[in-house]
Amino acid sequence: MTDPEDLVERVRDGELRLHELEDHADHDTAAEARRLLLERETDTELEAIGDYAFPAEAAEPNIENMIGAAQVPMGVVGPVPVSGGAATGDHYLPLATTEGALLASVNRGLGVIRSAGGADARVTKNGMTRAPVFRVAGVAEAAETVEWVNENTEALAEAAESTTSHGELIDVEPYVVGDSVYLRFAYDTKDAMGMNMATIATGEACEIVEAETPADLVALSGNLCSDKKPAAINAVEGRGRSVTADAVIPGELVEERLHTTPEAIAEANTRKNLTGSAKAGSLGFNAHAANVVAAAFLATGQDEAQVVEAANAITTMDARERDDGTTDLYASVSLASLEVGTVGGGTKLPTQAEALEVLGLRGGGDPPGSNADALAEIIAVGALAGELSLLGALSSRHLASAHEDLGR
Ligand code: NAP
Repeated sequence: MTDPEDLVERVRDGELRLHELEDHADHDTAAEARRLLLERETDTELEAIGDYAFPAEAAEPNIENMIGAAQVPMGVVGPVPVSGGAATGDHYLPLATTEGALLASVNRGLGVIRSAGGADARVTKNGMTRAPVFRVAGVAEAAETVEWVNENTEALAEAAESTTSHGELIDVEPYVVGDSVYLRFAYDTKDAMGMNMATIATGEACEIVEAETPADLVALSGNLCSDKKPAAINAVEGRGRSVTADAVIPGELVEERLHTTPEAIAEANTRKNLTGSAKAGSLGFNAHAANVVAAAFLATGQDEAQVVEAANAITTMDARERDDGTTDLYASVSLASLEVGTVGGGTKLPTQAEALEVLGLRGGGDPPGSNADALAEIIAVGALAGELSLLGALSSRHLASAHEDLGR
């Protein structure tokens, strides 16, 4: 077995570079050698970072220059009662966060939803996108390219799908700006979040576009995709899973458990999440959907940078009058671009895989795509619970005291 001190010496002598250590030692020894170097150069002790609970080799596809792991506390909320297109029954949802009071708040909302008989949830659209940008001479060539693409979607699908046994091309939407042509490819990536899959498949399709049209590929991603940037196109057209969860909460429950009324929650939602967000020029018309999305992403091995668009959500809350004159609360959250997978990426890491196991959604679903759909539906219900609880706290003016009690 290689001595980590020996690796440290060789890096110091300029014989090896930091990223080359795995070529000369097993992955854990390489990580230890990097820690030793870093400890000496920065006068630190990396005991906690080095105390990770999985073989470093398991993380090879996920990280370069590994030194250890950032450990984020993980808790659980639930059961989450879902009546969905893919998820049914009760599920515990693991959440990883450093924000005190978050899980307590989501759990409070889930308790209310459970008492109300559960939430409905459905994935209403599914498509992971990649939008390459091509150069043309001008609008005449742009129109020629668009026409060819519109008439040859099948040829593009054949090329794209030759690179994957799961992915299916759903649509190619062209956009023209001057002498640039953008083709927004959308794929059903089944249980994979699908960004690698869609990128590889689109690369193959681009070769035909270049061969058959005057267009020259400039970049495989032309930012109309749009990955990891706040973008209206994702909010409007969707990306990954577009999913909605809703529930009707009897007025008595709102009063008993949230200490407020359906009318007060509806008003807070309108003035805060809709009017306030509009005035702010926000893409997020919700209270804190990003909290549940980010915590679920960390716990289950999703690509955390995609919280940017995955938290793209509109929350609606309405007081619905019953025949007897009392009111119920209709509550919904629609996440337009929730990019999730149960295979690939970070989902294979041991702790994340265990979290998916808790949900009963580890690996590929039967039929393919059903596990990722179910994960999207459960996260949407979790987000709905978070919205309910926070709007309830704001309406009853309990927010500051709850944070004082739980988070500080
Ligand atoms: P991946 O780990 O690259 O690939 C997952 C593969 O799993 C699929 O391609 C598929 O193989 C296979 N698979 C097995 N069972 C499946 C099932 N039931 N449903 C779907 N696929 C199944 O993961 P990915 O989801 O394509 O990409 C996620 C990764 O991309 C993350 O690590 C993320 O950080 C990274 N990422 C990449 C880019 C980029 O531009 N490349 C951008 C952002 C993020 P077949 O295709 O052979 O069927």
